[in-house]
Amino acid sequence: MQNDKLFRFLFDSAPARGAQVRLQNTWQTILQRRDYPDVLRQPLGELLAASALLGSMLKFDGSLVLQLQGKGALKLLVVEWNADRTLRATAKWEGDLPTAAGLTELLGQGQFVLILDPKNGTPPYQGIVALEGDSVAEMLQGYMQRSEQLESRLWLACDTEVACGLLLQRLPEGHGEAEDWHRLCALAGTLHAPELLATDPDLLRHRLFHEEQLQVLKVEEQAFGCSCSRERVGGMLQMMGAAEVSDIVQEQGSVEIICDYCHQRYVFDEEDCTQLFRPMPDHNSPTCH
Ligand SMILES: [Zn+2]
Repeated sequence: MQNDKLFRFLFDSAPARGAQVRLQNTWQTILQRRDYPDVLRQPLGELLAASALLGSMLKFDGSLVLQLQGKGALKLLVVEWNADRTLRATAKWEGDLPTAAGLTELLGQGQFVLILDPKNGTPPYQGIVALEGDSVAEMLQGYMQRSEQLESRLWLACDTEVACGLLLQRLPEGHGEAEDWHRLCALAGTLHAPELLATDPDLLRHRLFHEEQLQVLKVEEQAFGCSCSRERVGGMLQMMGAAEVSDIVQEQGSVEIICDYCHQRYVFDEEDCTQLFRPMPDHNSPTCH
């Protein structure tokens, strides 16, 4: 089984391109780092697979963040994809979640947010739409439709072992006929979660599209990765300001921050905090040599 790989392919027989992904180690690492309620695992894994698929279609250096924000017991599901093909994910919720509930029920009123954050310093792009649909795939398809992206269809599935997905995107006019696109969607429409989870990507592509002509353009390795660091946490504390940080140190003896994504623990004691707020040496002032 080919795990933690993403396959990008292009149809010659229809105006479309596609990608498929199967995340095992990446998904297992996310589940090991933090204990998620059972009911959150499926949507979180599906959002993870979706972000790998959508990220693979981007031609830019930076990060793609997909967020489902809710006002119900579930406040946030978030996945961050980076151009180096690393992914991280986390969730925020309140109280005990029901053992079985639909995504809409958990989120209540909510919105889908997509953030594209280029590394080159250009300000991030943010797209926001109200949530529609009762699955991660429906919510994302709705977003892409309303934001005038390429027409896209997503099939996502997840269990305690793997998070998998298939993406088809219709290429602009001039690349072929509408009926060719609809034929591909009908072929992939036969796909159900158990088959997506249990089938090797090469075999799955063959099963669904053996009567089409397609070429695999690229196979990309995927992995878990968290961009947190002691330096970044220090920067965050500096943003909070000396007074607030000092209050926490007075009360608790130190400041402890645990990364939501990877559960790495960062502790800043009184001396560390003093260092954070020490005035920077002024490089412009004359110095003695
Ligand atoms: Zn982290």
